[in-house]
Amino acid sequence: MIEIKNKSDCCGCAACAGICPKNNIEMREDSEGFRYPQIIAENCVNCGLCERVCPILNSKDGIIFEQEGYIVQNKEQKILRESTAGGAFTAIANYALRKNGVVFGAELSVDLEVRHVYIETEAELSRFRNSKYVQSFVGGDIYRQAKTFLDQERTVCFSGTPCQIEGLKNYLGKDYLNLITVDVVCRAVPSPLIFRKYIGYQEHKLADKIKSMRFRDKHYGYKYSTMSVIFDRNQDNYHKGVESDPWLRAFFSNICDRPSCHSCHFRKSYRNSDFTIWDCFHVGRFSKELDNDKGATRMLVHTVNGKEIFKSVCSDFLYTKVEPEIIIAGVVEMKESVKPNEKREEFFLDAGWMSDTQLFEKYFPKTIRVKAEYMVRMACYKLGIYAVVKKIFVRISHKY
Ligand SMILES: Cc1cc2nc3c(=O)[nH]c(=O)nc-3n(C[C@H](O)[C@H](O)[C@H](O)COP(=O)(O)OP(=O)(O)OC[C@H]3O[C@@H](n4cnc5c(N)ncnc54)[C@H](O)[C@@H]3O)c2cc1C
Ligand code: SF4
Ligand code: SF4
Ligand code: SF4
Repeated sequence: MIEIKNKSDCCGCAACAGICPKNNIEMREDSEGFRYPQIIAENCVNCGLCERVCPILNSKDGIIFEQEGYIVQNKEQKILRESTAGGAFTAIANYALRKNGVVFGAELSVDLEVRHVYIETEAELSRFRNSKYVQSFVGGDIYRQAKTFLDQERTVCFSGTPCQIEGLKNYLGKDYLNLITVDVVCRAVPSPLIFRKYIGYQEHKLADKIKSMRFRDKHYGYKYSTMSVIFDRNQDNYHKGVESDPWLRAFFSNICDRPSCHSCHFRKSYRNSDFTIWDCFHVGRFSKELDNDKGATRMLVHTVNGKEIFKSVCSDFLYTKVEPEIIIAGVVEMKESVKPNEKREEFFLDAGWMSDTQLFEKYFPKTIRVKAEYMVRMACYKLGIYAVVKKIFVRISHKY
């Protein structure tokens, strides 16, 4: 029976909950808002399956393979606009749907919870587009559903964080030719509890109900992507970038990440997925053909199946082939875990008693510096020089 002695040793993938033959494992939130397996000891038959599928207890190296690297930009402008980066994920997912398949991914539900679900039509794919910077809820059911479809010989495309993909693979316990896996380069996942507090903070501040949100909106272009909050009144929506939006500031300051993300077992360039996708902010270094400010995805293809699929979908993209070692050069989050913010503990203690507004105003105040940076960014955007100024800034500071 699995026992979590150290919270860093559980990424919350729920593979154990999926495999338990007694349905005896429930994923429950702790005081920080992260889910961990809860087992009723008296119902356990000590079969050991939960331990056998745990991707942390059974940490694996990626499969060494002659990888291919690409930088891609979806030709379909609507898809490109809605995607975080270059819309690579949609093209791969569409491949599965065209084969009467099923696609699993993370959506932001109407009640503003990030969770894994599956869809079967192209029209529903937009629910998965755009990164949601919150840990998505996966229960054991999601793996059982995927297995059912695979056993029915339907093509299944499963997307998620690397730990979710390894959890799925361990749960399945064998290779399926009809499975396509897509993982992201993943810096960390923040707490769903703190995200609910952010929703409360925004609704209180703007005195309105939130209808929807996009964590990486291209409202001002890819180079200045924003948290966008869409309110019921459908006007004066909110678009703020990493310098001033409290959620993006929280995410990039690593103040409310899951503990396992700070010693992540899944950071590697060889993976157990078919595709790894992530951002490409400096596309001009690789190609003059791809638009610099519409978004581009870096992609590593890790398997024979992945290569075949890429051949089939590459006409959906403008793309350029790049050697794998060049495409991953300098991608720190692929290899090294982010460090926790030194105020993490204090932040969660305060989250236990402060109001939503007090919490975000204490840790992410709107200082003169924050306001000034926002104004400078907006001025550059309005003058049409944002991309140029950012390029110079990145050259000087080596920061994105
Ligand atoms: C939590 C998280 C952290 C990331 N960290 C980095 C990083 O440090 N550096 C970097 O370059 N890129 C990072 N990415 C990846 C990046 O943001 C883009 O997702 C990627 O570039 C692909 O973009 P796209 O336009 O091709 O696909 P999109 O259409 O944007 O596809 C989004 C995909 O991500 C999945 N997804 C969305 N939210 C979640 C979630 N919460 N949990 C699991 N799966 C999710 C969806 O199911 C879908 O498959 C991260 C993504 C996530 C979700
Ligand atoms: S040992 Fe078997 S029965 Fe017990 S919790 Fe784990 S999977 Fe369930
Ligand atoms: S299988 Fe996943 S959820 Fe279960 S203990 Fe291991 S890491 Fe945690
Ligand atoms: S950083 Fe690692 S442990 Fe955390 S969600 Fe991403 S893959 Fe999982």
